[in-house]
Amino acid sequence: MPHAVLAESVSASYREGGRAVPVLDAASFTIEQGVFTALTGPSGSGKTTLLSLLGALDVAEGGRLVVAGAELTALGAAGRARFRRTQVGFVFQGFNLLPTLTVRENVEVGLEPLGLGRTAARGRAEAALDRVAMLTKAQRFPHELSGGEQQRVAVARACAKNPPLLLADEPTGNLDEEAGARVMDLIGAARDEGQGPRTVIVVTHDASVAARADAVLTLHDHKVYAG
Ligand code: ADP
Ligand code: MG
Repeated sequence: MPHAVLAESVSASYREGGRAVPVLDAASFTIEQGVFTALTGPSGSGKTTLLSLLGALDVAEGGRLVVAGAELTALGAAGRARFRRTQVGFVFQGFNLLPTLTVRENVEVGLEPLGLGRTAARGRAEAALDRVAMLTKAQRFPHELSGGEQQRVAVARACAKNPPLLLADEPTGNLDEEAGARVMDLIGAARDEGQGPRTVIVVTHDASVAARADAVLTLHDHKVYAG
């Protein structure tokens, strides 16, 4: 089976006052398809930066990065946009739901780029909401939901388009323990849903999340280590 992620000597840095501050320095690692991977590391070690590279929100400066069969380091802006649209679902720490749209509309909006018909999009959105036990609140607005409920909707939105890759950046960081565990259960279960093997990568500080993951990657000293 091909890797879900193949990173060869990937480098990334930010400019600060004219000088480059390295985040990743020739980092190499792989992630297998269909694996639930926890990505850990100290604050500021580059976890969010790495997730942005994997989701083609950002571009590596050097090296080679192949994700879900696409060589991201060889794609232009249009190719990256297409990759993001079709291959990746994102869940962020802040739930990022649109406040003026209902729960169902929030999920449907995420499906728009796929060009499904209206009925098909609604069906997909409802199925995704059902899986996270939020279908009964499909007509509510985000501010009428608890944090845990909002994050379950965000998970539904990320999964509704059936992406082979699900990326989550500290998705339980704003939740209490119980709500967080429930959201993490759903993210873990997302590995086994969908059309093919789905690869799930979750940035987390939570040891209990890392303990239940199939694999752990740790960011340290600008490199990515297994375990
Ligand atoms: P983590 O998610 O592990 O906390 P980040 O990927 O957010 O780490 O950040 C890694 C490093 O890059 C940090 O030192 C941070 O200050 C720096 N950084 C992140 N984003 C930017 C940015 N947009 N501009 C400049 N520096 C940044
Ligand atoms: Mg971060």
